[in-house]
Amino acid sequence: MAFELPDLPYDYDALEPYIDGRTMEIHHDKHHNAYLTKFKKAIEGTELEDQDLETILAKAGQHGAGVRNQGGGYLNHIIFWESMSPSGGGKPQGKLAEAIDTSFGSFDDFKEKFTGEATGLFGSGFVWLVPDAGKVKIVSTPNQDNPVMDVVSESGKPIMGLDVWEHAFYLKYQNRKPEYVDAWWNVVNWDGISKKFDAAS
Ligand code: MN
Repeated sequence: MAFELPDLPYDYDALEPYIDGRTMEIHHDKHHNAYLTKFKKAIEGTELEDQDLETILAKAGQHGAGVRNQGGGYLNHIIFWESMSPSGGGKPQGKLAEAIDTSFGSFDDFKEKFTGEATGLFGSGFVWLVPDAGKVKIVSTPNQDNPVMDVVSESGKPIMGLDVWEHAFYLKYQNRKPEYVDAWWNVVNWDGISKKFDAAS
């Protein structure tokens, strides 16, 4: 597999004022690129070079910390970029909206629970929205783990993810993680996430 750094689906500053352009530039060009570079190095010369990313990460627990952390970082940021859009925000429509209502009672209840997971996550990690037999569930993972990995207790394939590492918000928000999470809801790419949910169900 030729693993590459995907371009952001929008300009660095397209998510302002909620996510600042400088953060997006460093996050994509430096952080995401570093995960990719180190992941490629971790699999170089091994049989993993010929496998696709999800096949590799499904057995992350067997491949060592380099593959787990760097491969996870590579995948997680792809999902994170796709979870946001300059025309995002608001609420989902259609089947995903129904699944959220069925799973959490209402969109507001879902948003409150997801926000609580994100602000309460200790240390570095991600919070995910994961399809689960027609419904959806919220899953938190530490560091660069992902629910597709064999190392997590709640498994699945996320359709949306929020990066709550400090590098995702510190330039603009410093220690005010709840402000970052609140702002993030204004750029959530519900159209794209809904399409992923439809494809998964
Ligand atoms: Mn990150």
